[in-house]
Amino acid sequence: MASRDVLIRGGRVIDPAANRDEIADVLIRAEKIEAVGDSLGAPDGAEIIDAAGQVVAPGLVDPHCHLRQPGFEYKETIGSGSLAAAAGGYTTICSMANTEPVADARAVIETLLEFAERDAVIRVLPLASVTVGMQGRQLVQMGELSDAGAIGFSDDGIPLSSTHTMRTALEYATRFGRPVANHAEDAELIAGAAMHEGLTSARLGLPAAPRQAEEIMIGRDVLLSELTGGSYYALHLSSGGSVELIRRAKERGAPVRAEVTPHHLTLTDAIVGGRSEPDTARLQPYDANTKVNPPLREQSDLDLLREGLASGVIDCVGSDHAPHARHEKEVEYAQAASGFSCFETDGVLDLPTLIERMTAAPCRVYGLPYGSLSNGAEADVVIFDPDLEWTVDREQFLSKGKNTPFHGLPMKGRVTRTIFGGATVFDLTAAAAPVSGSVGY
Ligand SMILES: [Zn+2]
Repeated sequence: MASRDVLIRGGRVIDPAANRDEIADVLIRAEKIEAVGDSLGAPDGAEIIDAAGQVVAPGLVDPHCHLRQPGFEYKETIGSGSLAAAAGGYTTICSMANTEPVADARAVIETLLEFAERDAVIRVLPLASVTVGMQGRQLVQMGELSDAGAIGFSDDGIPLSSTHTMRTALEYATRFGRPVANHAEDAELIAGAAMHEGLTSARLGLPAAPRQAEEIMIGRDVLLSELTGGSYYALHLSSGGSVELIRRAKERGAPVRAEVTPHHLTLTDAIVGGRSEPDTARLQPYDANTKVNPPLREQSDLDLLREGLASGVIDCVGSDHAPHARHEKEVEYAQAASGFSCFETDGVLDLPTLIERMTAAPCRVYGLPYGSLSNGAEADVVIFDPDLEWTVDREQFLSKGKNTPFHGLPMKGRVTRTIFGGATVFDLTAAAAPVSGSVGY
């Protein structure tokens, strides 16, 4: 079913790929961006959205999420995961391979794409694993998986420990123009660790791992990228020291890119102790929701990660949305838009830069033709109100996962509408109920 034409009027249109930041109208016709400009006329029958006071941007692209289908449907299905993502302003999400079975064969990738086409309200693009069964040894058939639709390769969830395997993976993947993404933690250094090694872990008496556990593997990986010319994507940086390693590799011309998550940009290990910072009052000590991998670190790391994201050493913000049943941990999509405002207020990151890191930049990682509002582009659009204040409430999550380190925290800035291929897939005014009936499949 073709969706209605839409005219989005009077918003602040931020399209970093086109270097645009101005008050303008956006016209959507036949599921494409028809025009962006002043005082555009509305075609007959078009829906008109008044976006005054709001920001209009390309739909967000998440370079890193986990959907739990097939295998763990009690945690998440592609349908519920895509609804949660749409509510966070995402129109394209890239899913990691640690499903059951692992996405290591053509049939699994094809099944995932079928599920996505049938159940998802937005675009879901799968990565394949690097090694068979994510066992860390035997490489998957990269050419076949790439043909089947895998946009990259990653054993994320498990660090790719074998240096030889990583070298070979980079050599092969680059033949197919795909990146290799790694969860960079030294398995021996993190064995048994519950959190970041620092003053907080000493005070709590918890087993911990130092930030060097990450830096050692980032250092290895960027050297191998330089050696092979293979495109490397460093997932969820948590250590300030990793930023420096990425910067130097880029200066030497290695095809290296990197990502950081909202939680590693905003939370420190102090919340593991349930410290009485005003904003974390509702987190009890040892709250399992504060346990993420890699672990939350210190303010000095946050400062370097934010600077790295601002300068472009870190390319992207990736959610690492990882729904788990309630006894485990989860990172929810809902805070994505809030990041827009909370980062802007600290003066390190301006809004257009942050939007670039969440739209055009992740598209560059995987070579995707999305993330912009140029004429003729897919009509993937997010509209958000940067001033809307709200509180994260896990009971209202659209995702099946209900656990989040952000539960109970006040947020400023919220997505009011998400449009995918010209069709509204999330509308905050519709009582937070997602509208998905007009999606074209
Ligand atoms: Zn990971």
